Amino acid sequence: MLFSRRAFLATALTPPQVRCFHLSASPEALVADPELPSVVRAAGVTDVWIGGYLYGHWYYTPERIAAQRKVWERAGLRTHVIQIPLGHPGDSLGSVSGQPPLTPPAHWKPGVRSNGKRQWGTSLHEPATAENVDAIRRVAAMGVRRAFLDDDFRLAQGPGIIGGCYCDAHLAEFTRRYGYGPAVREQLLDAVRARRLDAVVRNWVEYTCDQLTVCFRAIQKGAPEIDLGIMVMYLGSEKAGIRLEDYRDVPLRVGELMFDDKSFGRVKGKTNELFSALFHRRFTTAERAFSETTAFPSNQLSAANMAAKLAISTLADVRNTMLMSGVTPIPRSHWATLGPAMRNQAALHARVAGHVPRGPFKHWWGEAARYVGDDNPYSLFLASGIPFEVCYQPPREGWAFLSGADSINTSAVAVSRKTVPETLADLYAFKHRIRKALTDVPFVEDDKPVVCSWLPTAKRVLLWNLAEAKETFSLAYGEKRRDVTAGALELVEVEL
Ligand SMILES: [Zn+2]
Repeated sequence: MLFSRRAFLATALTPPQVRCFHLSASPEALVADPELPSVVRAAGVTDVWIGGYLYGHWYYTPERIAAQRKVWERAGLRTHVIQIPLGHPGDSLGSVSGQPPLTPPAHWKPGVRSNGKRQWGTSLHEPATAENVDAIRRVAAMGVRRAFLDDDFRLAQGPGIIGGCYCDAHLAEFTRRYGYGPAVREQLLDAVRARRLDAVVRNWVEYTCDQLTVCFRAIQKGAPEIDLGIMVMYLGSEKAGIRLEDYRDVPLRVGELMFDDKSFGRVKGKTNELFSALFHRRFTTAERAFSETTAFPSNQLSAANMAAKLAISTLADVRNTMLMSGVTPIPRSHWATLGPAMRNQAALHARVAGHVPRGPFKHWWGEAARYVGDDNPYSLFLASGIPFEVCYQPPREGWAFLSGADSINTSAVAVSRKTVPETLADLYAFKHRIRKALTDVPFVEDDKPVVCSWLPTAKRVLLWNLAEAKETFSLAYGEKRRDVTAGALELVEVEL
């Protein structure tokens, strides 16, 4: 074979692709659109995740799953499986037909919430673990080698809830295990209502985390040939039974939440999403991290917004994008926007992968937020145009913007405390007050919502324009100024 020198150089200078694009696709999606495999393959998707076992049901029979895999693989895609181990509270699958069962079978037990109400899904009693172990073995026997447990694998109904199962059996076991007397029930419920991180609540959260970790390890052990991962919900953490430290060496999907235009369309929707992704990235490597790039209901997030979500993964150095939309596929027309956007992000990501954002604003999500907080972070500082960095310990310098729970419970943070209300106007005013301290830091001078990620080791700044219109930003760095233009919701790279 002959190569021209020019072609050879072009190959040698292209950084290796670091970003992978995955699609979660239901059997229904393939029935509705038999051309889907070739469409998504052309857009740049390489891996497809098929729904497997659903909380006690083989609604999609193993034979149907095997047949699905063949169809996707014939189109040149790798296939893996997503198990839905415990069931969601309510309809999170979004099936138009309403066919998949919404609750586990009758021989499973419902959980009890702290308010005494019964709920199906996101609770753990036998035989859920045993049946999930059998299910993963069955999936492994099909030749599947990668599987995720969907985000119903948690023990709280949703974000901000101090979970665990408050049924008589679980409360009795908790009381026995920690040597408490019968009065502990009221103590626990009272502290949970008040979101007070006392010893009883701490033990309760640890007890709940133990249950989920034991279940995960049992499923993992059931099929060691499968690389088993966990999908974590938006800001999912210990209060939902997810002791993040326990999942450090497995594939981990960072939690996102803004699945429709209404929620993602707000600036704080975007910064909340980025905040959660940055938090979860503390517990996994870039290579093992997956996004939750989701439209739900599937037609409620525009193609432009879905494409903009790809920027969050680039900023957080999440190497795998997982495109999801429940049972119903995203509109076919989305792919015309997503394909080019995926290629752009992949090229940009390859140039900045592995470089760590640095800056005077500190991203901190502490123990109190994780154990008893309401999962409403102070995230708008990410839109201030000042660089930030993710802290693994309570920050001791710079500026940290604490949530309610952390500001009450974290004494180590912040030598001096000021209150900056979480509005863009207040953050811009704060920026002007501290700008004299920003002499050796690149930052955006304008009062416009923009994420400024400074990567000193790459000698680059990434600016993510959070406006739905083209903007020009004045980027200051020491004595220097330059104008940077970015399209609506565009992520642009500036070489310093
Ligand atoms: Zn229980």
